[in-house]
Amino acid sequence: MLTHPPLANSLVELDRRHLVHPVSSFRGHEARGVRILTSANGATVTDAEGRQLIDGFAGLWCVNAGYGHESVIEAATRQMRELPYATGYFDLGAEAPIRLAAALAERAPGDLNHVYFTLGGSDAVDSTIRFIRYYWHALGQPGRDQFISVASGYHGSTSMGAGLTALPLFHDGFGVPHSWQHKIASHDLYRNPLASEPQAVIAASVAELRAKIAEIGAERVAAFYVEPIQGSGGVLVPPPGWIKAMHAVCREFGILFVADEVITGFGRTGPLFACEDEDIVPDLMTVAKGLTSGYLPMGAVLMSDHVYEVIADGAGAKAVGHGFTYSAHPVSAAVALEVLSLYEGGIFDNGRAMGERLQAGLRSLSDHPLVGDVRGRGMLAAVELVTDKTAKTPLPAALNAATRLFDRAWEQGLVVRSFAQGVLGYAPPLCCTADEIDAIVARTRKVLDLTL
Ligand code: PLP
Repeated sequence: MLTHPPLANSLVELDRRHLVHPVSSFRGHEARGVRILTSANGATVTDAEGRQLIDGFAGLWCVNAGYGHESVIEAATRQMRELPYATGYFDLGAEAPIRLAAALAERAPGDLNHVYFTLGGSDAVDSTIRFIRYYWHALGQPGRDQFISVASGYHGSTSMGAGLTALPLFHDGFGVPHSWQHKIASHDLYRNPLASEPQAVIAASVAELRAKIAEIGAERVAAFYVEPIQGSGGVLVPPPGWIKAMHAVCREFGILFVADEVITGFGRTGPLFACEDEDIVPDLMTVAKGLTSGYLPMGAVLMSDHVYEVIADGAGAKAVGHGFTYSAHPVSAAVALEVLSLYEGGIFDNGRAMGERLQAGLRSLSDHPLVGDVRGRGMLAAVELVTDKTAKTPLPAALNAATRLFDRAWEQGLVVRSFAQGVLGYAPPLCCTADEIDAIVARTRKVLDLTL
């Protein structure tokens, strides 16, 4: 337990010397030092100085059920005691991953009946690329090897998935995107010149996707990737009907449609999966984060019957050469099963009610001189700060610095994501109380006042 400063101080020093942090400025982090969290319960996290904060970002949009559920801890302990590991290789298996695969297949839309487990979202996306290539080979169309995704999208940071991601930070210096990875413009409604007319945004995206397919050659396009709501790009919500329209274009050209629900899955936006709101069934879906509510690492690829059958027939008696030592880890699966029963035992219902309260509360900040846009759905939201509402002028760099907004929120007892472009992101645990949601909104107003 990190309860006294000398120990915390020595950890800060050890961290500085040895721990490489994900998606961080190495030098900036060395200068600032780590903030150490020591415990958490419900929607509250406690730091090494004993400060309690509302976690308005559920860790990294993942602790959907909230912290400290004893039943999850017990499920993990029981599984560890009975069978801490079982491979899925050599026709082996264990009960928990089998039950989890069946539970997901039962709840997923349409015929997404086949589940391949990964360790998180990035390797789930990476796995879809490999499965999709294999699928087209099996169909005798190996030339279908071009992939399209959407600007401002995030699909992880593996060496292949990072090229589907469309955020420059994940490309610059890394030699991605690859030549087979293409983008169309984002549906961003706030900074889109067509924004006042959502139908025009949809028409423009459809036209652009068609043009991109024509440019590449329809017979060469393997798949199209979308997040139902773009998360890391700044919580960008497409106009209703956008996903359905893009899905229809893919159907027309026989292009596989992949819904990346790593953030939006597991009640984050209301339904179990966000694509249910658009009434489409993707050919493949990726999930992670809320799958285990962050208690252990796990992700998954859900495949439709058709995709699975083509791959199975294509391989015949040969093994499909894709897999990880920790695919379908039984302890992660046991945790996911328990988390699912908590979700369905009332947390999803609470999340839907609190989601409405969060959206209304954050929208009430629109009167603040710094608030240019408030957007989101359910327990996923963003507030975009500007210095001029009409011109939509982004905050100047000094104010805009992500760390400054993050620090201010922290001082107010609130953890939020602060995107570099002056956007505050929210994804609180679905177990939040009404008081906690109101506190998130009130503390945000204080952050805004201090930023003026
Ligand atoms: N896809 C989406 C939509 C994500 O938001 C993320 C992570 O934030 C990923 C994939 C990658 O998941 P992970 O960080 O678990 O590798």
